[in-house]
Amino acid sequence: NSVFAHVAQAQDDPILGVTVAYNKDPSPVKLNLGVGAYRTEEGKPLVLNAVRKAEQQLVADRSHVKEYLPISGLADFNKLSAELMFGADSPAILENRISTVQCLSGTGSLRVGGEFLASHHHQPTIYFPTPTWGNHHKIFTRAGLSVKAYRYYDPTTRGLNFHGLMEDLGSAPPGAVVLLHACAHNPTGVDPTLQQWEQIRKLIRSNGLLPFFDSAYQGFASGSLDADAKPVRMFVADGGELLAAQSYAKNLGLYGERVGALSVVCGSSDVARRVESQLRVVIRPLYSSPPIHGASIVATILKDRDLFHEWTLELKEMADRVISMRHQLFDALQKTGTPGDWSHIIEQIGMFTFTGLNKAQVEFMNKEYHIYMTPDGRISMAGLSTRTVPHLANAIHAAVT
Ligand code: PMP
Repeated sequence: NSVFAHVAQAQDDPILGVTVAYNKDPSPVKLNLGVGAYRTEEGKPLVLNAVRKAEQQLVADRSHVKEYLPISGLADFNKLSAELMFGADSPAILENRISTVQCLSGTGSLRVGGEFLASHHHQPTIYFPTPTWGNHHKIFTRAGLSVKAYRYYDPTTRGLNFHGLMEDLGSAPPGAVVLLHACAHNPTGVDPTLQQWEQIRKLIRSNGLLPFFDSAYQGFASGSLDADAKPVRMFVADGGELLAAQSYAKNLGLYGERVGALSVVCGSSDVARRVESQLRVVIRPLYSSPPIHGASIVATILKDRDLFHEWTLELKEMADRVISMRHQLFDALQKTGTPGDWSHIIEQIGMFTFTGLNKAQVEFMNKEYHIYMTPDGRISMAGLSTRTVPHLANAIHAAVT
């Protein structure tokens, strides 16, 4: 007898549930392509050298203490994160129009942004691409926004439904918030071209919509931090306002450190100062202040030319390995003569491939080949290696024939 006896068992998180099932499988050939974390060619998690060195510096530095950070986080970290996202020469930075607060990775940044919008934005409706990262709906619904959808992915081309996207955003009410994946769209791996981004930008600005960028993969898509930030910077360059949530989980491999930032690019420095004061009002009752360790690692790397350079090389190596996995899988499917057009595997970008496999095929591959992925047919390319590509290609071949 418990006062909680009525509490029902909640459903496992659909993405994290994949790993739970994988861990229970005793098969030696089992393959986890569900998890959105980078793995080496040997299938191991990776701590970047730049991170190890920054941590050594922090440990050696006796002045580095464990005091509380301010509510808005580590000042250096916030400044450097804004520069990384928007470019050090960004007019919005030079004009002090950005308020940046350290948050708990990408998820926490999105949530703080959502809470702020729910309290202070005149149109508390947010539009998500279909499909989108499953947590978006939960984060923004909990924050008190109402949630709408815009068309994004076209299953017939396995590419972007640009016409549908423009039509749906074109009919969104003025002020509506539009969630945009800055690069490496999750789960589809489909990004607009820069020309399409320019058209999206024009539409959003002329209809008075408010862009909210989710940047969880800066540098991880193309291997270049600047190239992956281009769409966001196009929206800053026009002088308009926006929000951006940054995560260092993937690009610095700091998953469990929970380090990220929310930036609100405002029309003036005066507005930015007041916005920041309200972000602190959101954060204080949630967790008082963010953790210090991860942000100190990031600030150390971003401040130090050599460490920063080393990071960019390691980041490029991760991105290149993922891209190479795309080519190897594509080639293996060609070699086995698997029916169908698999060119989307090499055209999509970022951590995930949206294979186009249906639920029954996913279940078949799970049962017969011990391959684990989300039921929508999304596979993490970062979970794959030269050694495991043939197993996956054989499974896909068997599933579609
Ligand atoms: N947005 C997207 C699109 C993501 O894929 C992720 C990571 N799966 C996140 C945000 C946030 O992740 P984290 O909270 O670990 O930074």
